[in-house]
Amino acid sequence: MTQTRAILDGYTDEPAGLGVPPFVGVWPRYVAGLHPQTPTYLTVDDIRLIRYVSFVDNVVIDPPVGRTHIEVLNHVHDVETSRRILESVDSLVIVVGVQTPGKYLSARPGTLREINKLLAPFDVHRTLTGPVLTGGTQFRGGALPQLPEAEGYADLQPFVFESYDELQPYALKGATLLRQIPHLPDRIVELETGRGCPRESGCSFCTEPLKHKVQWRKPEHIIEEAKLLKELGARAFRLGKQSCIYSYEGGDSQQLEVLLSGLHALQPTVLHLDNANPAMVNRERTELFVKYLTPGSTAAMGIESFDPEVMQANNLNSTYDMAFSAIETVNQLGGWRGDNGCHALLPGVNILLGLAGETPETLDRNFAALKRIMDEGWLARRINIRRVVPFPGTPLYEHTGRKLLREHRRRYAAWIDRVRREIDIPMLRRLFPVGTVLKELCSEVHNGDTTFLRQIGSYPIVVAVQERLPLHERFDVRITGYMKRSLAAERVS
Ligand code: SF4
Repeated sequence: MTQTRAILDGYTDEPAGLGVPPFVGVWPRYVAGLHPQTPTYLTVDDIRLIRYVSFVDNVVIDPPVGRTHIEVLNHVHDVETSRRILESVDSLVIVVGVQTPGKYLSARPGTLREINKLLAPFDVHRTLTGPVLTGGTQFRGGALPQLPEAEGYADLQPFVFESYDELQPYALKGATLLRQIPHLPDRIVELETGRGCPRESGCSFCTEPLKHKVQWRKPEHIIEEAKLLKELGARAFRLGKQSCIYSYEGGDSQQLEVLLSGLHALQPTVLHLDNANPAMVNRERTELFVKYLTPGSTAAMGIESFDPEVMQANNLNSTYDMAFSAIETVNQLGGWRGDNGCHALLPGVNILLGLAGETPETLDRNFAALKRIMDEGWLARRINIRRVVPFPGTPLYEHTGRKLLREHRRRYAAWIDRVRREIDIPMLRRLFPVGTVLKELCSEVHNGDTTFLRQIGSYPIVVAVQERLPLHERFDVRITGYMKRSLAAERVS
């Protein structure tokens, strides 16, 4: 008899790849492709809702007062259907793994502990997969990761593929999972272009070198999958499932152009990228991205620290000079405004706190470098600051752990606040002057009478409008003011 299966998506966020709504990650799709019958898709939000209704009869997900309950916003089924699925399926494949924790506007990833607890009433065989199997999961920066065995998960399945030729049929079959994903026009679908770290030895904190050897996926495979995903309703794509898109096929510009032009020909509404190693950024490849991507894309650079001693102690991917050269190149070629109100392609800067070799001076050096970006007149779409999570298996875990995080933690909040006030807000004024019109923002969540919206894309700016607008609709807005990491705006009628 055929086994019936369901997939429980706890959402994923890893150094190479994102699957937290509105992003549709590759993990649930590939897992779905492995099975003869496409499994039923549930999210962690579905099992949270089951729990909620055991306390409250009428759960209001988007109440008129207070915040939208983002932890259940991305449910797929009504409570009764979710319950029926969990009571009837033979097995449940659970996808979990947050290894580059961020702030999520309209979703909350599940933790191992939480999912275990929520599934306790159901007698269903559970298989765990996802990034969690290499080093664990943690969505709070600076905290210890949760490990599968310690949390009582017994059946662990890495679902490893030897080659992209082997993966392709599963990727195509699993694409049909999109039929079960709600609000698909508001979602951005992650495409995989490669795996592993192209450097000989990786950065001290990163789990990607532990997971895979370097492999690049052929342009024709990626385009074939994107074409099918588009036929199934996807409109927006992100080249996000790789450690560095500038390193695609070893930095071969011809192959990169075959890939980009092929995807561009599908006419997606959004085609963005993610993850750029500053050491690989050059003019030729940047020109290709600017030519073929849609505006508003961000080349998120894992610079992690501008302190040369920290760079060396953690074997980071670029030097101070390389980082600035990359920021300058992307600005020169991508710093013009497109039709949607955003610049064509801008750098993003990632900073990690708590790395080996960090001293109180590291914070000063990082601040001075961010100030230099301002003083040079360049643009940076976002400055992402995280406290590192030392994942087992990484050199950081072995040698440094959380020691420096603990030593320096009292300094972080004031430093981050200074960056937000003295760098971020002036940068937002430069990026989006008052009066700038941004187009086609999706209304994602409410807080009372305020609606928070974003364009669909790689790292879209959050915009607050002082009106209660219906969710999952599109609006154009005019910028009126600034907050620490977001904009105030009014709706353009
Ligand atoms: S360059 Fe560093 S951060 Fe990027 S994939 Fe390699 S090890 Fe990870």
